[in-house]
Amino acid sequence: MIFDARTGFLFVSALHLLIAVALWAVLARRRTLALDLWCGGGAVFAVALLLLSLRPLLPAVLGYTLATLLVIVAALLKLHAIRLELGEPEPVARSIALVLAFLLLYEWLRVDADERLRFFVMMLVVMLLGARIAWSAWRLGRRPGCRSAYWIAVAHGAMVLVQAIRAGNVALGRFPPELMSQGYDALMFAMILLIAVIMANMAWLGLALERLVQAQIAAAAAQARSEETRVLGERIAHLERQRSLGLLSASLGHELKQPLTAVLTNAQLVRRGLAGARLTPDQLLGFVDRIIDNTRRASGIVEQIRGYLRPGSAAVGRVDLGQVVREVSELVAAEARAHGVRLSLELPADPVTVRGDALQLSQVVLNLLRNAIEAAAGHAAFVSVRAVQGDGRALLTVEDGGPGLTPAALQKAGQPFFTTKAGGLGLGLSISRAIAEQHGGTLRLANAPAGGARAELELPSCAEPPAAAG
Ligand code: ADP
Repeated sequence: MIFDARTGFLFVSALHLLIAVALWAVLARRRTLALDLWCGGGAVFAVALLLLSLRPLLPAVLGYTLATLLVIVAALLKLHAIRLELGEPEPVARSIALVLAFLLLYEWLRVDADERLRFFVMMLVVMLLGARIAWSAWRLGRRPGCRSAYWIAVAHGAMVLVQAIRAGNVALGRFPPELMSQGYDALMFAMILLIAVIMANMAWLGLALERLVQAQIAAAAAQARSEETRVLGERIAHLERQRSLGLLSASLGHELKQPLTAVLTNAQLVRRGLAGARLTPDQLLGFVDRIIDNTRRASGIVEQIRGYLRPGSAAVGRVDLGQVVREVSELVAAEARAHGVRLSLELPADPVTVRGDALQLSQVVLNLLRNAIEAAAGHAAFVSVRAVQGDGRALLTVEDGGPGLTPAALQKAGQPFFTTKAGGLGLGLSISRAIAEQHGGTLRLANAPAGGARAELELPSCAEPPAAAG
C-alpha cells in the first residue's frame, strides 16, 4: 500500500490548522463570535486529527478518549457557528450534556473493550453532528446573500457520506473498527477530508465576502436615500420660503411702495424745479440724492426677496447671525407694523459668527419671527430678539408677548404638519429644527416665565481660534 493513512491524516491535520488560522487572520477585522467558533472548531479538529494520527505512540486516554472527544467538540463548535449565522443559536447546555454523555459512554465501552460498538457509537455521533452542520448550512444557503453556505453543506455532506461508507465497510467486516486502518476507504476519507476542509473554509470566506458586499450595497443605498432626502428637504424648504414670502407679499408690497412713492415725488419736484428754473442747484442735488437713496432702498428690498427665493443647495461659510437677524427683520418689519407689533432687536456690536448657510439660517429666523409676530398680534404686542455669543456657542432668543405654546404645541411643535393655525402647514418649525441640527445646533421651544413663547436657536459659534502660544 503506497498510501499511509497516518501520514495522510497528519498532513490533513497540519493543513486544517493552517487554514483555520489563515481564515481567522483574513477576517480578523470583521470578527464575530461565529467566526471565532468556526475557526476554533477547525483548530480543535486539527489537534484531534494529530492525536488520532499519533494514536499508537500515545497513551489511550490521549489517543482515544481525548482525540475522540475533540472530534465531537470541534463538530459542535462548527455547528454552533453555523447556527449563529442562521440566527438560531444552539443551546449551550445541550451541547455540554451531549459531550458529557458521549464521554461516559465512550469510556465505559473503552474499559469494557467493546471495540466495534465504541467505533460505531463514535461514528454515529460524528455523522449525526456532520449531518446537522450540513443541513443548517443548506438552510443558511437558501437565504439571500448567503449562497456560499451551500458549499459548506456539500463539504460536510460529503464527509458524512465517506464516514457512512467507512462504517459500512467495518460493519461488513472488510476493515477493523479503527479510524486509521489502511485501506482504500481510509485514502478516500483522507482525500475527501482534505477537499472538504478547503471547500468549507473557502465557503466561509465566501460567506463573509458576500456579507461584506451586501453591507456595502446597503450602505450605498442608504447614502442614495439620504441624498434623495436631502434634495427633497431642500425643495420643501424652498417651497416653504416661497410660501412665507407669499404670505408676506402684501406687507412687502407696502414696504416697496414707500421708497417708490418717495422716488416719484422727488423726481416730480426735480422736474418742476427744472421746468420753472426755481430751484437752486443745491436743492436739486438734495432731491436727486433722495431719489438715489430711495431707489437703493427699494432695490435692496427686491434684492433680499430675490436672494430669499433663490433655490439653493447649502453654501457653507462664515455667517454673522446678527446680520441675518437685521436683514430678516427688515423683511418682516412691515408685517409687524401691520399687526401693531413692536419688534425690538438686542444685538451685540461684534458679529455673532457661526458656520453655515446664510440662506438656511435666515429661513429659521424668518420662521421664528413670523410665528412670534403672529402670536403677539392682539396680545402684549412685542417681539424681542436677542443674540449672544460665548463658550463656543451662539444663542439666538426670540420671545413674544403672545399667549405662549399650548400644551399640545409644547409637545408637538416642530413635528412636521403640526399646526394650530387655520392656514398653517406646520412645516416651518420642523424645517427650522432640521436646519439647526444640520448646523450642529438645536432649536428649543418653551414658554417664557412671564408668559409668551420663547424660541432658542443654539449653534456652535465660529470664533477665530486663539493664536498658538510661543
Ligand atoms: P405653522 O406656522 O404653519 O403652523 P410652524 O411649524 O411654524 O407651522 O408652527 C407649528 C405650530 O407651533 C403653530 O401652529 C403654533 O401652534 C405653534 N407655535 C409656533 N410658534 C409659536 C409661538 N411663538 N407662540 C405660540 N405658538 C407657536
